[in-house]
Amino acid sequence: MEIFSQIAPLRAFLEQKKSLGISVGFVPTMGALHQGHLSLVSASISENQLTVCSIFVNPTQFNNPDDLLKYPRTLERDIELLQSTGCDILFCPPVNEIYTKDPIINFNFGKLETVMEGKYRPGHFNGVAIVVSKLFNIVQPNRAYFGQKDFQQCKIVERLVKDLSFQIDLRIIPIQREEDGLAMSSRNLRLNEVQRKEALIFYQTLQQSKKQLLNDIPFQKMKNDVVNNFSLKKIRLEYFELADAENLSELNNVTDKAILLIAGYIGEVRLIDNLFVHEN
Ligand code: AMP
Repeated sequence: MEIFSQIAPLRAFLEQKKSLGISVGFVPTMGALHQGHLSLVSASISENQLTVCSIFVNPTQFNNPDDLLKYPRTLERDIELLQSTGCDILFCPPVNEIYTKDPIINFNFGKLETVMEGKYRPGHFNGVAIVVSKLFNIVQPNRAYFGQKDFQQCKIVERLVKDLSFQIDLRIIPIQREEDGLAMSSRNLRLNEVQRKEALIFYQTLQQSKKQLLNDIPFQKMKNDVVNNFSLKKIRLEYFELADAENLSELNNVTDKAILLIAGYIGEVRLIDNLFVHEN
């Protein structure tokens, strides 16, 4: 695997490959890699001749400075994992290679950024959109791979690609879970043993609610029960929503495209998860 930390040599390398007609797949990450990230890398390897993964803990998307400070960084292990998965190129720039000045761009994703993640993490999607645009311009891949785990982010990136006419095919890869169902996340590394067990509440809630929705129990009633359950267990719930997977507008009843989304805190660690209602 070739490792680049500077933009210019990465560009030169990729230009040479592209001039030979080689297709490029791109997997942007913030590192502390797990099987979820690696499933994106594997999907890219199977569809492209060259796979580029980036590791960049993007400061502009953290609305909470403490979260940025405590974000896990495991570069040596990440390199080993990428190598054993068969990734061709790692791009891991320092912050001053990506941000030489404060960004002058402000995105407005309308309703998409005022609900759920957008509501609780002001400025987050603006930071995501800035860094994803920069990385897309640097790598200029044929395909880019994102995880359904960050479903709202997928919607934002879809919109970004459309509005800025990036010539990139987006691929959304299903959520990889631990054996007990917990969605894999770099932030899981921050959970202690007790918290790791508590964290299961998110997936359990999604599964139970899906069953109830399929048995025609109204979402609002179910939501009240979920809110009570979290408060009984003293677990901070940020949101629990049933939404249309196309535009993320709130739903009261199940449709073909209904998706359940949840976010909350186990101790100081913020976790998210989601589940399509009509999916095994
Ligand atoms: P992150 O490093 O958290 O920014 O994630 C990088 C990419 O990996 C994003 O597109 C995430 O949605 C994706 N990802 C994170 N966790 C998972 C998971 N458990 N399953 C599949 N993809 C994931």
